[in-house]
Amino acid sequence: MSKSSLFCQRQLLHYLADGHFYSGQWLAEQLGISRTAVANYLNELKLHGLEIYSVKGRGYKLAHAIELLDANKIKKIQAAGSAQILVQHITDSTNCQLLQRLQAGQGMHSGTVIVAEAQTAGRGRRGRLWYSPYGTNLYFSCYWRLEQGAQAAMGLSLVIGLAVCRLLQQRYQLDAKVKWPNDIYINEKKLAGILVELSGQLDAACDVVIGIGLNVGMPAQSNEHIEQPFTDLRTASTQQIDRNNLIVQLQSYLVSILQEFNTTGFSPFISEFNQHDLYANRQVYLMAKTPIFGICRGVDHQGGIIIETTQSTEIYYGGELSLRAGE
Ligand code: ATP
Repeated sequence: MSKSSLFCQRQLLHYLADGHFYSGQWLAEQLGISRTAVANYLNELKLHGLEIYSVKGRGYKLAHAIELLDANKIKKIQAAGSAQILVQHITDSTNCQLLQRLQAGQGMHSGTVIVAEAQTAGRGRRGRLWYSPYGTNLYFSCYWRLEQGAQAAMGLSLVIGLAVCRLLQQRYQLDAKVKWPNDIYINEKKLAGILVELSGQLDAACDVVIGIGLNVGMPAQSNEHIEQPFTDLRTASTQQIDRNNLIVQLQSYLVSILQEFNTTGFSPFISEFNQHDLYANRQVYLMAKTPIFGICRGVDHQGGIIIETTQSTEIYYGGELSLRAGE
């Protein structure tokens, strides 16, 4: 997108953000562009999932007031010495953006974050898509140097989930659960997904990109894009959510748990994980080559899932496994 288009879209959103009606004529005058250009810019944002109503005689209005991501505001509320948070408008995937920086040899401090208003190719595991509509959720990726090497990645994915649970509990009084190994649930519905990607040599210390997609306010038609129950903070919380604050809080909770993890490894987190385990002591099945049916008995010191079947109790590791509720 050209710089001037980006500028015009941001300016239009700046006016519309309060959720009130603005006529096309008035918006066009403010920006010094035609009404057709206003309509085109807003249609493009609509295609990126932003809910905009247009009503004849009244103009345009957002379905909900929004707070745009604001790099300056974010910087002001970050604690001194925090790693940088870069804000993008529309991107392919914030994980891809960080991975590209790593591949280009751009040095970064652990804790550096990229966030975007929308993703065109947000990713889940195994090529699945993460629905990433504009201006309303968090699409957040964080760089981390994993000193213990790739074998610690399993535990890492779980402590990231715990960072999100701590944040939601301590700042928003929400009881979030982790579905091993990488999803966050509230009231049995998916609130957030975590995608950990490793880069560089895997036998020694390696570079990790941690992607977190967290739903703050999903548009009304989102179920056309997602084939499982999901929720958002607007539904789960009575508090007004300020995304700029949430981003700064998430970076800080994440960095502090990852520092803890770097020194202690996963073992001290086992009991905390078990308290937040969505499937604790419930019947589950593990989608592996041969599905395994049993009762979920928590995790071991490396973050592997413990499943008790009628024959034995086994521990399973690996990012390619998916857990589901049993009958
Ligand atoms: P598992 O990780 O256990 O295999 P999963 O099916 O949830 O489970 P993920 O890769 O974690 O897979 O996430 C991708 C899936 O999440 C998508 O296939 C879709 O069902 C769902 N999804 C996509 N976007 C969103 C969103 N914004 N909010 C909630 N769920 C979403």
